[in-house]
Amino acid sequence: MPLDPRPPSEASSTADAPATALRDWLQRHRRVFVLTGAGVSTDSGIPDYRDADGAWKRTPPVTWQAFTGDPATYRRYWARSHVGWPGFSASRPNAAHAALAGLERRGVLTALVTQNVDGLHQRAGSREVIDLHGRLDRVVCLACGEATPRETLQARMTDANPGWRAQASAAAPDGDADIDAAAVARFAPPWCETCGGPLKPDVVFFGENVPRERYARAVAALEAADAMLAVGTSLMVYSGFRFARIARERGLPLAILNRGRTRADALATLRLDGDCGAILSTATLAEATLAEPAPDEPAPSTATLSGAARP
Ligand SMILES: [Zn+2]
Repeated sequence: MPLDPRPPSEASSTADAPATALRDWLQRHRRVFVLTGAGVSTDSGIPDYRDADGAWKRTPPVTWQAFTGDPATYRRYWARSHVGWPGFSASRPNAAHAALAGLERRGVLTALVTQNVDGLHQRAGSREVIDLHGRLDRVVCLACGEATPRETLQARMTDANPGWRAQASAAAPDGDADIDAAAVARFAPPWCETCGGPLKPDVVFFGENVPRERYARAVAALEAADAMLAVGTSLMVYSGFRFARIARERGLPLAILNRGRTRADALATLRLDGDCGAILSTATLAEATLAEPAPDEPAPSTATLSGAARP
């Protein structure tokens, strides 16, 4: 189905009040499908991949083809992951995760689909989460399918590499870390304890498809919604972008909150640029206050609406 090149403008957001525009939008849409990306987790100390123009900030991540086809890539992935995991697993949810969990508790958010693999939405209290690209805290054997907690594998890798040390020059996205090539060469990568097969984090690598059943669940959730909100994602990866396309093809309003441009800006009916955590928490707090007036009070008037918007 061809896309309407000029989606109707729902609301004009003034540059200085994106939180107010988002609050107003949340008041109009009460069954919201939310899609999140790396920008939601950067305040938790997890770096993202792309800059404000949607371009790679660094070397693009490992592909499925290289991970499964090249032993040197397999060794390098696990050596870097062994260094990056402790910091990644110690990260905590931030204000953006908390605000989205609050929206779900109030019944505004019907489904949360995340492209992140950090599990921080669940740790913030979100329940209806679809981890589109999987979770880094699980590991699966590509030969026999056996699953292992990532924490267990971390201990096994430490035991299998006595005295191994690597200097990490920088943390990288998805529990990765930049380390020197000499350290990689000395690292013994892990193999399945049951069958000796290769191990892979239970995440969808670049070049790999989202499992069909998981994608279908996410589309069903979008079809049950009355609007879509994309947060902290440039939507450069097609597996995320296609939800924006589906939303617009079905005539659903699409709000995008992100720092910098996104691939779906032309499809958005509300486009908000700025800090996800700050805007989400201000907007959802104001929305919650307006949605739950004290029992004896009348419904909020226009004056109340504009008053509540001021910090
Ligand atoms: Zn196995």
